Amino acid sequence: MADKTRFVFVTGGVVSSLGKGIAAASLAALFEARGLTVAMQKLDPYINVDPGTMSPFQHGEVFVTDDGAETDLDLGYYERFTHTHTSKRSNYTTGRIYESVIRRERRGDYLGATVQVIPHITNAIKNAILSLRADEPDIALVEIGGTVGDIESLPFLEAIRQLRFDLGRERTAFIHLTLVPYIRAAGELKTKPTQHSVQKLREIGIQPDVLLCRSEKPIGKGQRDKIALFCNVPSHAVIEVLDVDTIYEVPLKLNEGGLSSVILDHFGMHNPEPDLSVWEDICKKAREASETVRIAMVGKYVELADAYKSLNEALMHAGLTHGVRVEVDYVDAEVLEREGLERLKKSDAVLVPGGFGERGTEGKIAAIRYVRENKVPYFGICLGMQLAVVEFSRNVAGLRGAGSSEFDEKVEHPVIALMTQWEQEGVRVQRGHNDDLGGTMRLGGYPCKLKADSHAGRAYDESDIRERHRHRYEFNNTYRKQLEEAGLIVSGTLPDDSLVEVIEAPDHPWFVGCQFHPEFLSRPYAAHPLFTAFVGAAKKARA
Ligand code: GLN
Repeated sequence: MADKTRFVFVTGGVVSSLGKGIAAASLAALFEARGLTVAMQKLDPYINVDPGTMSPFQHGEVFVTDDGAETDLDLGYYERFTHTHTSKRSNYTTGRIYESVIRRERRGDYLGATVQVIPHITNAIKNAILSLRADEPDIALVEIGGTVGDIESLPFLEAIRQLRFDLGRERTAFIHLTLVPYIRAAGELKTKPTQHSVQKLREIGIQPDVLLCRSEKPIGKGQRDKIALFCNVPSHAVIEVLDVDTIYEVPLKLNEGGLSSVILDHFGMHNPEPDLSVWEDICKKAREASETVRIAMVGKYVELADAYKSLNEALMHAGLTHGVRVEVDYVDAEVLEREGLERLKKSDAVLVPGGFGERGTEGKIAAIRYVRENKVPYFGICLGMQLAVVEFSRNVAGLRGAGSSEFDEKVEHPVIALMTQWEQEGVRVQRGHNDDLGGTMRLGGYPCKLKADSHAGRAYDESDIRERHRHRYEFNNTYRKQLEEAGLIVSGTLPDDSLVEVIEAPDHPWFVGCQFHPEFLSRPYAAHPLFTAFVGAAKKARA
């Protein structure tokens, strides 16, 4: 991207959680709506090498790219709002940058130099930005995580300051997202936090070109002029961002505010009329959905919606396809263990999402038994598929001591186990393309072959698919024959049949478990086939 690509850097001020990721993704959508190509990247100031090791309580969902990177959930917004595919290069953390610099230092690559934040760390950051994509997209949007003023984000801010110097004004633009709070007692919007945040940025040499101001109330011309004057930004480049009903309205609102035009003018680029029909259509469908379908999501991180971000979006997208609003009842699996399954009766269908660790698994298994026996639509994702296999083994195939070796290494029937554990028992399997598949996580996109005459096969309406994974344990092939003979349907496998990817219960309106995470591929403009089929089954169950 050395010669042509323009860079838009998005920073945040005042407080976190203002929706920087959504704003950046929406702006990218506006560029795409004008026929431009975009790439997107997130730079995270924390020290973890990637968010893979962080608890969902800390960081929300881990988004997985096709090439197997565990990344920040903002990448999910980038993919859902645009047609770009993110990759390992789309998310760098301080830890990852330092790791690469220290590795080079140990190899002697710096030829005796004193290795320092400037220039070595900042050069590594600049390289990460400039090598995001080889195919020279028109515009690259780079979001800097954290809030201006944090110690951790300084090297990233310094790197983008230098890029303005290296590439010039025509190829770089700075957008700063701030908060303009409404003080109820005074009945006034306050611009001071924005002024201070911009001061902080200017102290380190960055003059924003555009201010995006999150606010509960419309920002009048007077306040806008005041922000413009104090922050040294033209008044038309001070753009308000009000709260919206659905996040898919944000591209439309930012377009009304003139954001993409301000940036394209800044770059001296042609600014054709955008085609926003996709977003208008999504918002219209969201507004018009009258019926409600209730889905119980039985999980562990139920008090934190961010932990299941892509999943919630995927359900919503499927709802749009059916003209229904999907209401999710987050059920703590441990509550089911304590209080019984009554709560599930309020819902039209049940979903057990991915997860790690034993806590709550017996509650989930009890829920799965209930939905299988009572013909309630069921969708099991990753752990939700594995537990469906355990439940079927115990209660249909007669393997009372069935379980996953994740929770008990000595379990009598490890129907879900690490591949290394059952390979030793003499089962030959063809490994996937990832050498780490034996003991550590199986990550990223893998092909899957579907049985045409199955719920999954009918949902996709094609036999060769590709989906993203994030798990260590697998369906244990040692038990495959026995479970199939007991009626379990294996409707998807790796193309060479070596690993089970999708299972279904027999004689059931819709009971599907998949080892992969389909939620990562759902888009508001193209709902995912499995979610569409599942929500369809829930709607039917309700009627
Ligand atoms: N804990 C299970 C495994 O590692 C499932 C992981 C998941 O649901 N993402 O295989």
